[in-house]
Amino acid sequence: MSHTAELIAVGTELLLGNIANTNAQTLSQSLSALGINVFWHTVVGDNPGRLKEALDIARRRADILITTGGLGPTYDDLTKQTICEAFGKPLILHPGILEDIRAFYESALHVPMPENNAQQAELPEGCVIFDNPVGTAPGCAFECDGVHVLMLPGPPHEMETMLRRHVEPYLRKLSREVIVSHDIMTFGMGESSVDELLHEKMAHMTNPTLATYAKPCEVRLRATAKAPTEERAQAMLAPVLAEVQAVLGDVIYGVDISGLAECCREGLLRRNMTLATAESCTGGLVAERLTAIPGASVVYRGGVVSYWTSVKGDVLHVPQDILEAHGPVSEQCARAMAEGARSITGADLGVSVTGAAGPDPDERGVPVGVVYIGLAAPEGTFCRALDLGRRRRDRIQGLAANHAFDVVRRYLQGLPVERM
Ligand code: ATP
Ligand code: MG
Repeated sequence: MSHTAELIAVGTELLLGNIANTNAQTLSQSLSALGINVFWHTVVGDNPGRLKEALDIARRRADILITTGGLGPTYDDLTKQTICEAFGKPLILHPGILEDIRAFYESALHVPMPENNAQQAELPEGCVIFDNPVGTAPGCAFECDGVHVLMLPGPPHEMETMLRRHVEPYLRKLSREVIVSHDIMTFGMGESSVDELLHEKMAHMTNPTLATYAKPCEVRLRATAKAPTEERAQAMLAPVLAEVQAVLGDVIYGVDISGLAECCREGLLRRNMTLATAESCTGGLVAERLTAIPGASVVYRGGVVSYWTSVKGDVLHVPQDILEAHGPVSEQCARAMAEGARSITGADLGVSVTGAAGPDPDERGVPVGVVYIGLAAPEGTFCRALDLGRRRRDRIQGLAANHAFDVVRRYLQGLPVERM
């Protein structure tokens, strides 16, 4: 039987627009991966009457209700009390939990526990308790008349920790099927082209399913199968992956990998190579995305943000005659920047980005969207010339950074880098 969940976020701050309902996003992603339908997201303020109304509606149309927020110790934290009233469950004090909360205050926060925190140790009779290793309010779940009610704390890092440790295992037990999915990551083909190539196939699939998700500058395909066992689901997915691979070819840069930067890190590690960057129009975006990955220092030596032409000359040693004859946004400059990054850092590979991100053409009249990616490697220097069109500045920067990663990953995978 398939389950239907409704997410109820409790918090007046959400209604006032002070914060975005990111908990709903995190939970929805997790539920869809578990094969649980989510048909409703509800947001309600810290108001017991309206929360009660929301619960009454939700329990009629869903069999899993998940609330976030309002489990704290203050007067506006009313979720647990209101739910218990609505479902006729008494609250029971758990002395062990009270001691845990007291210990958390004393050892982690170095202050005595305020007495009103004691109510966080009260939980609905007969519930499953979700402990909270990164905060004080435990979460919990109970079943009443065929409806599962789960209460989770509001702070996103507490919610997410509890989700992974307790909620996902709890929900997995409700279903007799396992859901397995693989993310096929592509770069270099627009969503509509990917869709055109695979539409026929996708439209007729029910299990496994195949869907596209366009992120800024790249397209991800997710193949998902439901089956009684993991092995069975994997066996159903294997031919789908093979078929997508046959249709899209080397546009696919990886499967179940977080992004192009991670793909480059893995490729560099595998080939035991290091990388350096020289960036102009991306202002350090390539370096930032590489260094966001823990452990990047093994493969990334460093980089130069050479925004001024003089920095391209003085720091990266781009020859003056190139800068004068061709300008800073040119194939020749991109090649020289990549070579400079490589030689001054001693890295095996140097990648460069120079271009006109707009909104106005550069001082030499280079149109917005013209970008050159250079790659200096032991066997020579390459350049990919791009016309990204008149897009928004941040889009051009994001795309240019992705092209820089794509050039590196293609080199590492032994593919031609200049054309896609
Ligand atoms: P606390 O013990 O911190 O009071 P709580 O479970 O009572 O936690 P709330 O008081 O409702 O939760 O929210 C605490 C904080 O968590 C909010 O100020 C907000 O920053 C964040 N938060 C709450 N709900 C959400 C949500 N749906 N999405 C994103 N952040 C949220
Ligand atoms: Mg609170």
